[in-house]
Amino acid sequence: MIELKGLTKVYGRGAAAQTALSGVDLSIRQGEIFGVIGHSGAGKSTLIRCINLLERPTEGEVRVGGIDLTKLGRRELQERRRKIGMIFQHFNLLSSATVYDNIAFPLRLTRTPGKAVETKVNELLSLVGLAEHADKYPAQLSGGQKQRVGIARALASEPDVLLCDEATSALDPQTTDSILALLLDINKRFGLTIVLITHEMHVIQSICDRVAVIHGGGIVEQGEVAKVFLKP
Ligand code: ADP
Ligand code: ADP
Repeated sequence: MIELKGLTKVYGRGAAAQTALSGVDLSIRQGEIFGVIGHSGAGKSTLIRCINLLERPTEGEVRVGGIDLTKLGRRELQERRRKIGMIFQHFNLLSSATVYDNIAFPLRLTRTPGKAVETKVNELLSLVGLAEHADKYPAQLSGGQKQRVGIARALASEPDVLLCDEATSALDPQTTDSILALLLDINKRFGLTIVLITHEMHVIQSICDRVAVIHGGGIVEQGEVAKVFLKP
């Protein structure tokens, strides 16, 4: 589903150049929950942002569904990106828009007819358990509720991949577990491929099928979670 080949990212130039990733190869299967774990500064955020080209790799291929995104023109890339949803550590919601309008946002961007927007948003609101909070603003929600809005917004375009950038790092342990349960439910229900980055082992062990350990911009180990972390 997702194939990264020789992925390298260097920020800046000359003396200020900073290599964040060097020659990363990674293969993520359709329908799995794939985790990338590593310490702060290891390159996790750069890696996940390269999958939808939010960050342009300096070198290498980013194949999603067989297509190398780095070779696409602006228009085609925009089109393809709609099928790659993303959620963030700090939720990135529009603070002056209601829960309903935050979720409707990507649908309105693509000029979805009003009636279809309404049906879809209501469906998503009940999926993430926020039907009673549609008219609230982000500031009136708890962290977990904000992330549920983020998830609903990401699902609005019916993506086949969901990227999670430290999606539970700002949440307390109990809320983290409820968000992880929701992600697992979505993965099972829609067969959605999920890629998540985290510095928390608990996140990897509770929902990931396979994991890669990143250190200093390179993958140092990868495989099934049980094999990587519970060696005999
Ligand atoms: P992580 O998500 O694992 O904390 P990052 O991908 O954010 O790691 O960072 C990897 C390395 O790249 C770090 O050394 C970081 O300082 C550097 N880096 C990340 N983003 C930038 C940027 N925009 N400009 C320069 N250096 C960056
Ligand atoms: P988040 O909390 O959302 O993970 P970060 O604090 O890691 O965000 O980074 C915020 C922004 O700063 C990102 O766009 C990232 O690429 C950039 N960034 C991260 N590290 C550096 C760095 N060392 N120099 C410049 N920009 C950086």
